[in-house]
Amino acid sequence: MSSVLQSRRGHLPLRPLDVIAKKRDGRELSAVEIEYFIQEYTRGEIPDYQASAWLMAVTLRGMTRAETAALTNAMLLSGETLALSEFPAMKVDKHSTGGVGDKTSLVLAPLVAAAGLIVPMISGRGLGHTGGTLDKLESIPGFNVNLSVKQFRRTLGACGCAMIGQTAEIAPADRKLYALRDVTATVESPYLICASIMSKKLAEGIDALVLDVKTGSGAFMKREQDAAFLAELMVETGQLVGKKVIALITDMDQPLGAHVGNSLEVIEVLEVLRGSGPTDLQELCLELAGWMLHAGGVAETQEQGRSEAMKLVQSGAALHKFRQMVELQGGDPVVVDDISRLPSSKHTAEVAAATSGFIAEIDCQSVGVASVILGGGRNKKEDSVDPSVGIVVHHKLGDAVSRGEPLCTIHYNSETQASEAALLLQKSFKITDVAPAEKKPLIRRVIGAGGKTGILPVPVNAEGEKK
Ligand code: URA
Repeated sequence: MSSVLQSRRGHLPLRPLDVIAKKRDGRELSAVEIEYFIQEYTRGEIPDYQASAWLMAVTLRGMTRAETAALTNAMLLSGETLALSEFPAMKVDKHSTGGVGDKTSLVLAPLVAAAGLIVPMISGRGLGHTGGTLDKLESIPGFNVNLSVKQFRRTLGACGCAMIGQTAEIAPADRKLYALRDVTATVESPYLICASIMSKKLAEGIDALVLDVKTGSGAFMKREQDAAFLAELMVETGQLVGKKVIALITDMDQPLGAHVGNSLEVIEVLEVLRGSGPTDLQELCLELAGWMLHAGGVAETQEQGRSEAMKLVQSGAALHKFRQMVELQGGDPVVVDDISRLPSSKHTAEVAAATSGFIAEIDCQSVGVASVILGGGRNKKEDSVDPSVGIVVHHKLGDAVSRGEPLCTIHYNSETQASEAALLLQKSFKITDVAPAEKKPLIRRVIGAGGKTGILPVPVNAEGEKK
């Protein structure tokens, strides 16, 4: 079929070129134009190169509230929307806007299911410099993230949680656009992030959603006000269709936990499910779990939810759920008790501190890029990831270090990639003579918990222009 198609209203024929040019020129697209573009791209009628040009135009020009709602809706309607009415329990999910070392989803799905809620989680792969839940799960030998809707339902029925990717049936538009954005420098747009996240979350048939919106040097939204804007956009989008949506703005000025890289992150997930692991990771998991249990109606307050979540970790119930889910999705459940069954790299090397002092800054995005360079992420759509590589970070912001002391350990399989990553990591740590004065909180603010959002400020770009 030609890519010149009639509009739904039967007037002028729509052409991809005109939709791209209109957005390039900063004009508002109609819902019909957006729906047309998304439908035709999902069907394979619009090629990747035209979709890439359109994504870049959106990234540079932004979208109005109406365009964002139309895009979210078009992406949602590109596939099936699940009802999951066969499950009497509330359906709750969590999604992060993407970070470095952010493995909370793997802890939260089984933990919240252990409290009796249903967690039908549709996640993504690595995006830009950030890691992806699906890539992490696939480092568990045999784990299948490509379940059919029937298998997804069966897994939810058997253990209360299931973790899959966007499929040809659910959120297919996001599946294609997500992979394209990853390699075309078009990830950072709050409008594209909102539509990507909300389209797949609304397709899950959930009652409530907790969003972890990252801010800082390793986040897509570097400035807190931009993260708040994105959070409000998503909370509003969900509330418009009657969902309970709560967003936490959380710190991404340094990697979350110590491990960055797919199988390395699974190891840390298992530690947290056993009640140990890095404090920041444990803390964020419990906070998010508290909100999920509260939003799902099994805890009267977030604090009660948090303490319930802690009990579920201490009793081993959360770890048991994780094991059950791994087995049901075809993975090797023995991994839970024997991490030597996870892929591990052939070599390791340390990156040492060049001077003595205090860690004043970490360029967290560069830590994520270093992991991609090692093979933990993609440079092209067709690339496969190496599950065994990554970085273990030994120091956090504010820590005192001595010259020659290891800042991090690189897990690698190629010397060339390791040298490039080491150079970047060395530059990522800023060491100063005096300790940094302020320690920013892990959780900056919560949006939407009162059922309402604030007034959205108009975001401006670096030059101060309205976007
Ligand atoms: N997570 C998503 O699912 N989509 C984005 O665009 C960013 C993070």
